[in-house]
This record gives sequence, structure tokens and C-alpha cells, in this order.
Amino acid sequence: MNNTPFNNYITNLRRSAEIINLTEVEIKALSKPYNIIEKKISIVMDNGEQKEFNAYRVQFNNARGPYKGGIRFHPEADIDEVKALAAGMAIKTAVVNIPLGGSKGGVQCNPKELSEQELEKIARAWINAMADKIGVDKDIPAPDVYTNPQIMAYMRDEFEKIKGRSEPGMITGKPIPLGGSLGRTAATAQGGVYILEELVKSGNKNRGELRVAIQGFGNAGYYVASILYKLGYKVVAISDSQGGIYNKDGFDPEYVNKIKQEQSSVVKVYDVQKISNEEIITCNCDILIPSALDNQIREDNAGEIKAKVIIELANGPTTPVADKILQEKGVVVVPDVLANAGGVTVSYFEWVQNRTHFYWTEEQVLNRLKPIMVNAFKNIWEMSQTKNITLRDAAFAKAVERIAEAMRLRGTV
Ligand code: NAD
Repeated sequence: MNNTPFNNYITNLRRSAEIINLTEVEIKALSKPYNIIEKKISIVMDNGEQKEFNAYRVQFNNARGPYKGGIRFHPEADIDEVKALAAGMAIKTAVVNIPLGGSKGGVQCNPKELSEQELEKIARAWINAMADKIGVDKDIPAPDVYTNPQIMAYMRDEFEKIKGRSEPGMITGKPIPLGGSLGRTAATAQGGVYILEELVKSGNKNRGELRVAIQGFGNAGYYVASILYKLGYKVVAISDSQGGIYNKDGFDPEYVNKIKQEQSSVVKVYDVQKISNEEIITCNCDILIPSALDNQIREDNAGEIKAKVIIELANGPTTPVADKILQEKGVVVVPDVLANAGGVTVSYFEWVQNRTHFYWTEEQVLNRLKPIMVNAFKNIWEMSQTKNITLRDAAFAKAVERIAEAMRLRGTV
């Protein structure tokens, strides 16, 4: 079997099937999406030309609740990858046990070559093509690569024009004045921190002794640095696409962010040791937080990793071979489907608030996020200990178990 993203999902599914004793019928039912929707959308470009784009939505599984997943605008949007991402969303919502399924979608386009008006037209055209397939009780999109709250605002507006009614919960990741949730921007990082705090509680070190290295300084990376610094951790390494910086005494992330805002990169911080994005993975630290790209921890560098704990805020930062090496070294890897699930959990809160038309304070959002993350972690930790498997295998198996149980109860399998 080729190493494609969807085949990797199937490999994980089969491993889970052994751990929780799934039947062949159940494995088969979990091996393909419920719906694959492919459409052509067409817009008038700024130069007056009509142009066609491929639009798609993969609805993987809705046994536990309406489909949920982002929409990406990307030139290499390929269906195998989108199927894997949709399956990954079904797994993630089940890992944190929120009542939603999994989906993913997008448009094959290059946003860097499109004007704001063209992007708005594409957003509205996607909704026109998919309006009957999505909705507050069917399938709830959200931002993903190269889509943002403004795109979500256009999409909500178009959907409501077509349906002739208000339906704020048809999409999440909206701007706050249009029904977005407070606490969403920091949610992914905050969720990962709640889990890290559980791990630290069970160890014998103070936060001030723990050195953290963070690859990526965008939404996930900046917030995790900022939250950990305020909690007293020592943030010793930070990087972005241009490279990284290291200081054994630690950085103030607000200062690093100020330099990045003013001069485009963290590497512009004056008079500190510069390190590459390769070096940050293996630098001297206790906790490594990949918060940028996939495939950063591989066979060639996993053996050199000094961190004892890895919190995967990025999706897919560790390859399967690297995983094995880390397991042998005794490194605790909190897998992406658990570590970064704070984001989808607060999206779920947005949907709940939209449905009830009753909005929460940021404090209320965080107070509800914490027990979901902590309970998910404790459940998965316990499973990994009793079955002697990695946290990644335990998270996947726990999620598959929940989805399969819902399918069994419905009589689908
Ligand atoms: P972002 O675009 O806000 O930030 C990405 C950061 O990575 C930027 O600082 C960029 O400079 C840096 N970067 C790019 N190429 C790099 C390289 N080669 N080496 C090091 N850094 C590099 O993105 P984000 O929203 O923070 O997402 C980061 C990761 O977290 C992605 O894998 C994403 O799928 C995952 N994630 C994010 C969320 C969320 O809510 N933002 C939720 C779940 C998962």
C-alpha cells in the first residue's frame, strides 16, 4: 500500500481494529467516506473573463453528529488528501467526545493570485454549489488553509440569502460580531497547554525548570508561547519560516512577537543565537511543540531529539517511523488529534452558542474547554497504560471505538 495520507488513515484504522476488536464489516464501513461531492464553480474574474474552479466536499462520517470540517483554498487540493483530512476530523471530534462527525472541503485555486473580490466570489459560489449538502444540522464548515473569518462571513451571508432565514450555526470560525466565539483564536494552543499541565503535574519538576522549544510562530505557536511564558515555563527556542532563535535563559514571546510584527521574522531578534528549523527539532529542551508543518520529525532526526515530551499542535508533524524511534526512547508524544483538538472544541462551542443565541464570556469558554481536554487526555492516557500502546494508538482506537459504537447503535453496521 502506498504511503498516501488516506492509506495512512487505513493503516491506523486497522491497528485500532486489532486493539478494540472491530469486525471486518465495521472496518469496511469506516474505510470510506459517506459522501464525496465534486462540483464545478464559475466566477467572473476582475479582468472580465469567466473562470471555472473545482469545488469539493468530503463527508466522512456523521454517526456521532453533523459533519464538521474546514474548507481550504489551495492549488494542490487533491481528493486523497481531503478524504484523509475528513477522516481525521471524524477521529478528532470523537477523541474529545464532542457530538460531531467529520468532513473537509475546498476549492482548487491559488489564493495568492486572487483579489479580495475574486475570493469573495469563490466563497459565495462554493456555498451556491453546496447549499443543499450543508447546514446547522447537516455539515458545518470552518476555516482551513488560506480561508479565514472574513470568508466564513461571506459564506454565512450567501447561505442565508439562499435559504431565506438566519442560520448562524451553519459555519464556524466567523468574526465575533457575526456570531464567532470568544476564545477561539487561542483555543488550539490553550487546549494543548491544559494537557501539558496534566503531564507536568504528574512529574517532579517546576515549570520554571522546563525548557520549551516551539517550531512555528503563527496562531498555534504564538499563543502557546505566550500562555506558557505567563505560566512560568522557560521558552528557550522559537522559529518561523525564516529560521529560529535560541536562548537558554528564555524569551518573552510578546517581545519576540513585536519584532516579528515590525520586521517580519523572529530571526530579527538582535544578539541571540540563531538556529535553523532543522536544529530546533533537536535543540536542548524538555518540551518540543511543533506548531507549523507536517513531516518535521522523521527517521533522520527523531533519534537526536532531546525533549522528553512532544505536544503536536501542528497536524502530522511526526512520521510513523519517527514515532517508533520516539517510543523506544521513551519520549511522550501527545498526538495531533488530541493535542490540537482545542480548536475544534471551541468551534463546537461556537455552534452551541449560535444554536441557543446565548453568548459566553471568554472565561466561560475556557472553563468549558479545560474539562473536555483534561478528560480526553486522562481517558487516552489510561488506555495507553492498560494496553501498553502509544498515546497516538490509544487516541485513534478510542475515537474509532466511539464512532463504531454509534454506528452499531444506529444499526448501520
Ligand atoms: P499559521 O499560518 O498561523 O502559522 C504557521 C507558522 O509556521 C508561521 O509562523 C510560519 O512562519 C511558520 N512556518 C512556515 N513554514 C515553516 C517552516 N518551514 N519551519 C518553521 N516554521 C514555519 O498556522 P497555524 O494556524 O498556527 O497552524 C499551524 C499548524 O497547527 C498547522 O499544522 C495547522 O494544521 C495546525 N492546527 C492549527 C489550528 C488552529 O486553530 N490554528 C488547529 C488545529 C491544527
